[in-house]
Amino acid sequence: MNQLPNAEIIIIGAGAVGVGCAYALAKAGKTDVLVLDRADDVGAVTTSQGAGLCGQVRDSAERIQLAMHSVKTFRELQASEVKPDWHEVGSLRIALSDQRAEEFRRLKAAADAANLEADLIDHTEAKRRFPQMEFDGVKSVLWCPSDGYMTPRAVAASYRHNAAKLGVKFATATALEGITLKSGRVAGVTTNRGPIECRYVINAAGANAYHVAKLAGLELPIFPVRHEYFVTVPMEGLTPETPCFRVPELTLYGRVRDGGLLLGGWEPKSLNGDPRGYTADNEPPPVVTDWPVLDSFEASFTKLFPTARAAQKSWVGKGWPTFTPDGRFLIGESSRVPGFVMAGGCNAHGISGSGGIGKLLVESMLDPKPGEYVKGLSPDRFTETSWNWDEARRQSAHVYETYYGV
Ligand SMILES: Cc1cc2nc3c(=O)[nH]c(=O)nc-3n(C[C@H](O)[C@H](O)[C@H](O)COP(=O)(O)OP(=O)(O)OC[C@H]3O[C@@H](n4cnc5c(N)ncnc54)[C@H](O)[C@@H]3O)c2cc1C
Repeated sequence: MNQLPNAEIIIIGAGAVGVGCAYALAKAGKTDVLVLDRADDVGAVTTSQGAGLCGQVRDSAERIQLAMHSVKTFRELQASEVKPDWHEVGSLRIALSDQRAEEFRRLKAAADAANLEADLIDHTEAKRRFPQMEFDGVKSVLWCPSDGYMTPRAVAASYRHNAAKLGVKFATATALEGITLKSGRVAGVTTNRGPIECRYVINAAGANAYHVAKLAGLELPIFPVRHEYFVTVPMEGLTPETPCFRVPELTLYGRVRDGGLLLGGWEPKSLNGDPRGYTADNEPPPVVTDWPVLDSFEASFTKLFPTARAAQKSWVGKGWPTFTPDGRFLIGESSRVPGFVMAGGCNAHGISGSGGIGKLLVESMLDPKPGEYVKGLSPDRFTETSWNWDEARRQSAHVYETYYGV
């Protein structure tokens, strides 16, 4: 294999986050960028398992704007030669209690304030949009017309294509082995293909982000938590235009995939890992399909979608998205190790959030006066304070387990 070129910025990890950051940097004029991944292709690890939903309705202006920027990015990529398979089909958020209906009113107000169209619609309108769903007893439905879904590996390939067109270089089958510091700041990396000099390392290593940070001498609480969904064989009436949906009280979400129903959920008792339990040159242990958990998703969905009960399963998506104790992304340069930049801890939003994460990363690195929101995502919040591993793991699991908490 050839010697790799030096680069101003090296990104470790070519999942949705790494390639999304590469694209955002290139668009901002930073093209001396090299993306490394030890896998043979981009988007091959956690990203390949993602359900690919993108929802923009959130409870804060910043989170809504981040998601809106992602949608803008997916539209842009969809107009290019290599497409992310973006389907802007809208989404239905379904409330089963008065308390949740009240939350929907607050979410709608937050969407209005951020200029995101979101409408509370009646049962007739909801049924027209999703005829297979039963809305009897449903308390409220929030419709967001610009939400949608994509194919995660296609998103990664699209980012790669479009970033490469702007000058970004990619090296797959290339493993990071070390980070070289000079006078305390990043000066390069070592890889299985030899050393490379750089000024910045961006850590987008997904479930290995803890290990990559450790190579720079930083200890960051980035916990893998198991997540799964199933896909059924094609079902009558489901089309690529069928909207995505979320049912917070049942902790379920879904969409159409290959004519079948993709149904995922957040179980109340998570299976969460400790990154210190596997080494830098390994991923977390493979996920064994947990049918009792998947069956529980199916059972609780039956009332809303009776025909799904009997549908045969054709595929299971599963992996280890990462969670942080405060449920916030880790984005930005470390003040302790200048040149070491984080882009991770995505709390299962790494694909849908990739456009917005790229924008925030650019702001954190290039804007002389980054905003308060992005400053609050800095890794310094964990490296410059003391925290306890057991407590951090418990908190990260709690973020997963209360994903749809009011
Ligand atoms: C079942 C499931 C459903 C999901 N659904 C959604 C969804 O609907 N929407 C959404 O937004 N998110 C979803 N997620 C979460 C989403 O998949 C993740 O947030 C996202 O893929 C994280 O991307 P990443 O780039 O950080 O990580 P990854 O995709 O894991 O990429 C990290 C890369 O780093 C590389 N790497 C690690 N160590 C090294 C090293 N030493 N040297 C070189 N390369 C290295 C790995 O090979 C890997 O390719 C889901 C996840 C799962 C498991």
